Amino acid sequence: MSTAREDLVVMKFGGTSVEDARAMERTAAIVAGRRGRGLRAVVVVSAMAKVTDQLLTAAKAAGNGDKAGALAVAARLRSRHLDTAAQLLDEARMEQMHLALGQEFDALDDLLRGISAVGELTPRTNDLVLSFGERLSSRMMAEAFAQRGLHGAHVDARSCVVTDAHFGKAAPLEAAIESRLLEHVLPLVEAGRTPVMGGFIGATVDGITTTLGRGGSDYTAALVGGALHAGAIEIWTDVNGIMTTDPRICPDALRVKTISFEEAAELAYFGAKVLHPATILPAVQKSIPVWVLNSRDAENEGTKITAVAPHCSSPFKSIAAKKKLTIIDVVASRMLMSHGYLKAVFDVFDKYKCAIDMVSTSEVSISLTVDSNERLPEICEELGRIADVKYEGRKALICLVGEDIRGRNGIAGRVFTAVSHVNLRMISQGASEINMSFMIDEDDVEEAVRSLHRAFFTEPDATVFDVDARKAAAARVAATA
Ligand code: ADP
Ligand code: ASP
Ligand code: MG
Repeated sequence: MSTAREDLVVMKFGGTSVEDARAMERTAAIVAGRRGRGLRAVVVVSAMAKVTDQLLTAAKAAGNGDKAGALAVAARLRSRHLDTAAQLLDEARMEQMHLALGQEFDALDDLLRGISAVGELTPRTNDLVLSFGERLSSRMMAEAFAQRGLHGAHVDARSCVVTDAHFGKAAPLEAAIESRLLEHVLPLVEAGRTPVMGGFIGATVDGITTTLGRGGSDYTAALVGGALHAGAIEIWTDVNGIMTTDPRICPDALRVKTISFEEAAELAYFGAKVLHPATILPAVQKSIPVWVLNSRDAENEGTKITAVAPHCSSPFKSIAAKKKLTIIDVVASRMLMSHGYLKAVFDVFDKYKCAIDMVSTSEVSISLTVDSNERLPEICEELGRIADVKYEGRKALICLVGEDIRGRNGIAGRVFTAVSHVNLRMISQGASEINMSFMIDEDDVEEAVRSLHRAFFTEPDATVFDVDARKAAAARVAATA
């Protein structure tokens, strides 16, 4: 194994950190700051905020034969990107960029016309449409870096991020990625350049464009950091780090100063959008610290994710919520579940490649939750041959995560007291022993999260949570009152 490149940092900037020319300026200043400290940077960017959603809309419209609708979305994207580039770049660079972006958008228009002519959107073509977001943002960001003395060098991520052909959620092929990065990206770093590549996108060994799944730019950053043995991976976003819960639900959520890989992975898996669930793995394997930082407040210390979390007197680090789940109740028609019965049930989910989030069983019934319901009618029809099946959508999973619940009594009691007014289903303490989770109706999520947050984060451990920020906010409110 080669040794770590301690002075190399992989910096990933999410959609809001490249949403317009001002955000891109801030991003350039943050990268300049790292280089000013003698660090070398590889930059991974998301598409500009909301662009992936809009490309998805365009692709769907085209798939339904709505050519005019699809092209109208693309036209709006074209002017947004050109306006942003014009604000960022000097005249000479803009002239080049105008041509480059023009070619990309012409290709997108052609593609959308083709999809609407056929009237069918395959997962493979969908990935190709979505890839434009990161291709465009990374090109613009690289040129903005070049103009600002950061020696930006654009790298098409598809030349390095090799994946399988599972369109929509492709799995990276790490050995191939490592050798491509060593060949194409490391020499740029060694020449003092700042490589800029789009996250989320990749290509098969045959060069067919793929994507890593929504939110996948974090994953790209971790793959690149892992392959290059970086000293650190920084995930730059629009909040101060991993917070005690989504600040959109609880504005008084606190920044968690340090969290373990295991806790962060659990949170991401159970719905905390701040990190893509697969992000942690490449970093864990190489013990590379991951930081979550705020590109709108670059001085804030953020959250450090490390192999071992410091001891914390508060049982939980954070509360995650995952919506749009469906509960499926499978009741055995014969009184007792016979040998092989569970396997038969799980085989049906396996057949339709439907991931199960949570399971609880009793003597005659099994309850399962799934977050994709596209194949639900077929799954339930097939299960109906061996059992009575019911399913109910619009459910949500609430998950409280913290290593310090291990071996402590009375925590579950405190959780249930906090949400005693909410109807709970399928309660589970994860096998990992670091989470407690339960299902509720989607409409109860905000209320439940706020109640739990009040119960567990009113007097949190000041060594682990940024309590000072809360005190400062309270002082500001008092001063204006
Ligand atoms: P990016 O575009 O930078 O990848 P995301 O929107 O994917 O950003 O993730 C950041 C958002 O995640 C935040 O704005 C916040 O609303 C949400 N979020 C959910 N749970 C948490 C949490 N525990 N800590 C911080 N942010 C969270
Ligand atoms: N742009 C992609 C998305 O919106 C990937 C990412 O931002 O991480 O899902
Ligand atoms: Mg994200």
